[in-house]
Amino acid sequence: MTKLQVDHTGSLLIPAEELLQLGLQPGDCVGIEANDTGLLLRKLVTVVPPVVSVQQAIARKNLQTGIQFLKGVGPKLAELLAKRSIHTVEDALFCLPHRYEDRRQLIPIRQLKPGLTQVFQGTIVSAESATTKGGRKVFEAVVQDESGSIVLKWFHANGVWMKRTWQIGKQGVFTGEVTSFGWKPEVHHPDVEWLENGADVNAVMAADPVNFGRIVPVYPLTEGLHQKGMRRVMRQVVDSFLPNLENILPQSLLGRYQYLPLQEALGLVHLPPSEAPLNDLNEGRTLAHRSLAFDEFFFWELGLALKKRGVALETGISFQVTHRYTKELVKLLPFQMTGAQRRVLSEIKADMMAPHPMHRLVQGDVGSGKTLVALMAALVAVENEYQVAIMAPTEILAEQHWHNIHHWCDQLGITVVLLTSGMRGKAKQEAMQQVVDGRAAIVIGTHAVIQDKVEFSRLGLGIVDEQHRFGVLQRSILKKKGANPDILVMTATPIPRTLAMTLFGDLSLSVIDELPPGRTPINTKIYFESRRKQVYEMIHKEVGLGRQAYVIYPLVEESEKSDLKAATQMAEHLQADIFPGLKLGLLHGRMKPEEKEAVMASFKNHELDILVATTVIEVGIDVPNATLMVIEHAERFGLSQLHQLRGRVGRGSHQSHCILLTAGKLSEDGEKRLRVMEATTDGFRIAEADLEIRGPGDFLGTRQSGMPDFRVASILRDGVILEQARTVALELLEHDPGLTMPDGQRIKEELLRRWGTRLELAAIA
Ligand code: ADP
Ligand code: MG
Repeated sequence: MTKLQVDHTGSLLIPAEELLQLGLQPGDCVGIEANDTGLLLRKLVTVVPPVVSVQQAIARKNLQTGIQFLKGVGPKLAELLAKRSIHTVEDALFCLPHRYEDRRQLIPIRQLKPGLTQVFQGTIVSAESATTKGGRKVFEAVVQDESGSIVLKWFHANGVWMKRTWQIGKQGVFTGEVTSFGWKPEVHHPDVEWLENGADVNAVMAADPVNFGRIVPVYPLTEGLHQKGMRRVMRQVVDSFLPNLENILPQSLLGRYQYLPLQEALGLVHLPPSEAPLNDLNEGRTLAHRSLAFDEFFFWELGLALKKRGVALETGISFQVTHRYTKELVKLLPFQMTGAQRRVLSEIKADMMAPHPMHRLVQGDVGSGKTLVALMAALVAVENEYQVAIMAPTEILAEQHWHNIHHWCDQLGITVVLLTSGMRGKAKQEAMQQVVDGRAAIVIGTHAVIQDKVEFSRLGLGIVDEQHRFGVLQRSILKKKGANPDILVMTATPIPRTLAMTLFGDLSLSVIDELPPGRTPINTKIYFESRRKQVYEMIHKEVGLGRQAYVIYPLVEESEKSDLKAATQMAEHLQADIFPGLKLGLLHGRMKPEEKEAVMASFKNHELDILVATTVIEVGIDVPNATLMVIEHAERFGLSQLHQLRGRVGRGSHQSHCILLTAGKLSEDGEKRLRVMEATTDGFRIAEADLEIRGPGDFLGTRQSGMPDFRVASILRDGVILEQARTVALELLEHDPGLTMPDGQRIKEELLRRWGTRLELAAIA
């Protein structure tokens, strides 16, 4: 119990340490109450003035209304909507139509055009179950108007039930995509709106303005959810709740490129006006669509910019470049660093010397010599008595980094430790101990290993070898292993500019745009299955010349559905029937790390002539004597992946070859893709082509890609808008750096709401 004193003015004096004990801080408001045991001090909670007005708060709350509370939406429908991630009214507002149907006017049946979804009216003149020549059951009805007639078809329909509904003489309004069967147009599974006998078509249509007389939105559905029901819900959402949606971006920002306010844009996308251009709507290119994309990109780019600035403002380590180890290494190297390597290294060094943490991405094509650059950066940290962590995406790659790096570091007297999940018992404990107590200067491991268990004594630099795996979020984990260590990310995927801006906008970028000299370009050719024998002869020939060859398969084991030849089976076949005199090895993802290591080592030491492998060798393996790569089922790989694979050959001074074997029934896209591989070895051109053909989701691999899930915007289609959004976001920050002005405040709040956790933007709140 502390005794408090009252001074001569009658004031109560509370010593500072008592204040803290009471949980109070200078500046807190304290209320005093007297009761019969004494005085009671009570901290008064300060009321923070609301940033948003009361109306805004209510409006925003409205948008959070659960979708199940809407009229006509019961628990069952709510559950279906939840499957499309629609839980609240706001979710629904941002669930956009994926296409549109032109129901502005009825088309005379004679004028129906194949390929379009159209609306027509007429009378049923026949309705019958039938069997196609192929033995399929169909139900067919013929509809007629003054201009002509058309066949409607249903497959797998219940004939009895259909006949009851589709009675001859009934009149209706039909909607469906007109296809042509031979030269005759027909409609499969049309929508129908029945008319009372003798009813006026126009009156009926006018009475249902949601579904007729306009361009009608078509929403993505799930099993059990019908278009009409969905449209009804969406119409209700738009009518009753859209007016509550706040336009956060002010006219001054939107006006720069003449975009529409969010509320207006959303309204137009859900309910396009009659005169809207149908093609633009369907391609997501109307002004309204573009405005939504701008809105999305703007907040994302603003977040990245703030994040980048936040890092720039943090205090980091100011390394000194002493040259103690780096000079030594340069002397040991059997070659000179390329100009590009030197330039990138000096960019890295400048970052490391600065008093703020480095956040830099090094982009360099396969074989451009990223490892050496990373090692040099690591040596700078070690010279300053800091530890370095190097994360690799796979065990094999981690092991290879370890081989390369400890080869040099041994000669420099630097301790390098490898940590893999395959390590056990004493060896692992000893390795971990060396990391904790600081004896290990450089630690190399897979993402998982370094993230989870390892504690560093003094981590100064984290290097992430991402190859083609991206993750804005992943890097932050490494950062937390030290006190604001420098971060260097390396990627071998040449990322097209728009994508790089989106994914890595918070990083500074260095590009190693030059390969070490003396490389002979790889000769790439597509071979069809019929020439397999010739391919085997080529392998014989290369091996006869003392070289080695890779044979790559897309899968480990034969899957039931596909006709892929499993690597294991094929290896046996090749050994037994094709190359009985040669030494073959097999490498696949399901082998134990030690086994993989052993196979790799024997291939590297030329104890094997041919390595049959799955894509596990994609990353990093470096065997200069391997000059031939045969890729089976090349059409199943992505271009960027093929490029990575191909980069395993062409590493020495001998001419290298890459053979893309395909089954021979290539799609047009498939052939186009493979031809790109024949035409160029330039990773950037390949990446651009890949992105163009496959779209960003596939290009990056959707899983784990770190790609923000934009609701409307498409990186591919909206590249120009992305750049505009970036410009406007940077302009805003220049004008209002702290986002403290009224518009800025609202934008900041919205930014945190949308991306706060994903971008770890809490610091700017
Ligand atoms: P990647 O960028 O694909 O990771 P690596 O770092 O594995 O490339 O380098 C590929 C090969 O090139 C390695 O064998 C490496 O020793 C060699 N190398 C790196 N830099 C040079 C250079 N400046 N001159 C010659 N060879 C180099
Ligand atoms: Mg590498």
